[in-house]
Amino acid sequence: MNVPPDIRVVSAPEFREFPENPARVYFDSNMIEINRAAYDKLPEYVKDFIIRHEIGHLRTNSANEHKADEYAIENSDAKDAESLVKALKSVNYLAAQNSKRRDSAHLKILTVAARRGSKLAKKALGEISNAKDKEKEDIWQTALFCAVLLTIGIVTIYIVNKK
Ligand SMILES: [Zn+2]
Repeated sequence: MNVPPDIRVVSAPEFREFPENPARVYFDSNMIEINRAAYDKLPEYVKDFIIRHEIGHLRTNSANEHKADEYAIENSDAKDAESLVKALKSVNYLAAQNSKRRDSAHLKILTVAARRGSKLAKKALGEISNAKDKEKEDIWQTALFCAVLLTIGIVTIYIVNKK
């Protein structure tokens, strides 16, 4: 994994406050710091993803994990046929406790896979968007039903009071 020349990578033997955290960034100095004690134990594909993720923090100028993941997925090696599978496995590994982070990364992986020509990914995205539309339809139907009930209620009160 080649890091762009404007980004400096340094190592620390350990992060005392966050021993589990494999790496972190310094926005003011455009720097990635690797926690050797945690990072060195990880599988190669996860290491690669982490570096892309940290570059994502610096490039998007954001501490948001979802944004950094999206950058890492977007910039996974398109020539490597396995790159999106590796990204998927990395996200599942790193965000095992965070289903929201996994969900948003999975959707991004599908989007990039579809853009790279996967028919299966395109089909899956279509199904997800259909399911979302259906959900919206259901909400509107419920809202309409409530509005009708409310109107009937108001009209009834009005008639009863008139008598
Ligand atoms: Zn991060």
